[in-house]
Amino acid sequence: MADTLVINADGQPVSLLPLSAVPWKEAILYMYHDKCDVLEWYDDWIVRSVSWETKVPAVIMLKQYLRRTGGVRFSKSNVYLRDQYKCLYCGTGVNNASATMDHVLPVSRGGKTNWTNIVTACSPCNTRKAHHSVMKPRYAPYKPGYYELVRKRKQLPFNIRHDSWAQWLGLDEEITASE
Ligand SMILES: [Zn+2]
Repeated sequence: MADTLVINADGQPVSLLPLSAVPWKEAILYMYHDKCDVLEWYDDWIVRSVSWETKVPAVIMLKQYLRRTGGVRFSKSNVYLRDQYKCLYCGTGVNNASATMDHVLPVSRGGKTNWTNIVTACSPCNTRKAHHSVMKPRYAPYKPGYYELVRKRKQLPFNIRHDSWAQWLGLDEEITASE
């Protein structure tokens, strides 16, 4: 479980794709090694060992700036995000469990697994397309930019563990705490 949001030295989340949040034990290691400042604490969550006790940090800020690559990794979830969790054949909404990655040009005909040949598809369309290669996606797949994906990611709910996260993530007030 990601308990602690990690903010870069510039005040922005280290990453939104995926969200830079770490389990509390890892956050305490950052504290122990003096690699972060704690910005927010869980008020009533205290952890203890034999020799110490501490409140659990909800948000930490790295002391040293972690350089961003600015690139976008080709991954299932980033493909779904580019396509805004919609099947590119029929427009049906999908989620991580129901979505599939479909090769526009089938692998059997030399199709590659990359940004320009993979689209999000619901499984009925994926199956149907295997038999009818004439099916065309609603737009040609492309490599998205980092900020495009960040913008699309912000339209989806985050698993907000602590109220203060919404502010650090630059989200609007009404955020549902489910994922
Ligand atoms: Zn579909």
